[in-house]
Amino acid sequence: MATEPAECGKLEQHLQVLGRSLDRFLTFQHPDAMHEPARWRSALERRLPDTGIGIDAVMEEMTHYVIPNGSAFPNPGSTAFITTGATTISALATLAGAVASPQRLSLNAFNFLEAQSLNWLAQLFRLPADMQGLYTSGGSVANLVALGAARQRAFEDVGVDPARQGVEHRTRVFASEESHHSILRACAVLGLGRDALVPIPCDAQGRMRTELLAQTLEACEDLPVAIVGNLGTTNAGAIDPIIELARIARENRVWLHLDGAYGLPGMLDPDVRPLFDGLEWADSVVVDPHKWLGAPVGIGAVFVRDRALLQRAFTQEAAAYYEGSLSDDAEHSMNHMGIPYSDMGIELSAPSRGAVVWALLREIGVAGLAARIQRHNAMARWLAEQVQADPHLELLRTPRLSICCFRYVDERIEQTDELNRQLHHRLLHNNRNLPSTTLIDGKLALRPCFIGARTGWPQVQALLEEVRETGAALARQWTSPSARDRPERTRRSRS
Ligand SMILES: *Cc1c(COP(=O)(O)O)cnc(C)c1O
Repeated sequence: MATEPAECGKLEQHLQVLGRSLDRFLTFQHPDAMHEPARWRSALERRLPDTGIGIDAVMEEMTHYVIPNGSAFPNPGSTAFITTGATTISALATLAGAVASPQRLSLNAFNFLEAQSLNWLAQLFRLPADMQGLYTSGGSVANLVALGAARQRAFEDVGVDPARQGVEHRTRVFASEESHHSILRACAVLGLGRDALVPIPCDAQGRMRTELLAQTLEACEDLPVAIVGNLGTTNAGAIDPIIELARIARENRVWLHLDGAYGLPGMLDPDVRPLFDGLEWADSVVVDPHKWLGAPVGIGAVFVRDRALLQRAFTQEAAAYYEGSLSDDAEHSMNHMGIPYSDMGIELSAPSRGAVVWALLREIGVAGLAARIQRHNAMARWLAEQVQADPHLELLRTPRLSICCFRYVDERIEQTDELNRQLHHRLLHNNRNLPSTTLIDGKLALRPCFIGARTGWPQVQALLEEVRETGAALARQWTSPSARDRPERTRRSRS
């Protein structure tokens, strides 16, 4: 059968069209996708196509209706959640991998970079020399794999292979109440049960109270599987006291897992590096290159001291079609397994993630990345200082990394949460500065998280200005003697 004509020699031509469209998108001069969704939905909402329209027409629809109505997250002014746009080189490397390396299996340059870039990450974050990595689809799966290793170790210590025999013991995983929900889900997926998670209360800075951890462990009658520490909580960027966690883990012979999906790169900032002391005691560490490193979404990484443990926990067992096709004396790339990553996690087929991490580190080096991270941390600290100096703003947490939780206040207005909820709605409506919100000690906070490679000082200044102006305008309306001017919800809640 002939190759379909659309598949031959068309990349260069179409990449130019795609590049132009994406560059234009990144100027963010378009309205938000949900401003007038009918404009693009009517063009895209179609029946399953019986016949194709050809690559040119698809590209036409892609550049007219799809790309201009993409996500707001890559906007430099978007500081919501912990999500950002990919850098250009990492987007290009992703495309290159999609075309030139559809599997980790076999030996080729892409798969070579899978191993090398994992080693680079371990060095970059000063992980112990014996730590070995595995890419995953993100932090959630990285946490799952790490806790899978912890489960394997805990059960093997009592003479059980949990991967083969299942888990019969009642187990415990100890994590601060600020830990990411993926820890809870990992407990469920690994058969420990969500009830196995023991949430440990935090101090006023959102750090685990280690004296409570020690007490809880002492009283524990079940099989302890892991202590989970945060290297930057999702909520506010808090870093748990690692040295203390490591001491307790060692004394109780429990696995120490550190979740640095967001915050591990923070250690490249000399001002906060001391908070990462003790990292070398961890049994497993997670980081998400698709967060602060600016990789396209779909790249997490987990590091453990002993990948053999991962293989015992996650092997997919031999398959005739697989091992039988390979002999390991590589004269051809397809005659060699390469590192058996597919036996160490939960994915067999997986995209080439190493080439992306290689490309983004090669482009700007450690110095470039460290400069970005220092800039983002400094932006959060600067914002906190401005907030503290302004009687109309209240700082809810001292930033440790690049998240700053604060809110607008007005002494004449009691419903501060509602005021800030409305303020946040207006920010989204104005579509320039886009933080998310969270609750800090039950108070609604505006929560910018600065991680975007395109996000810099102009964005933090613009955010501060817009919060001040919008807050003042809302407060004026709110306290206006004419009820007509007051926002809808205020009238209701005051009556
Ligand atoms: C984002 C995040 C996760 C989950 O990572 P995904 O890549 O979204 O799956 C886990 N832990 C922490 C601390 C996070 O910030």
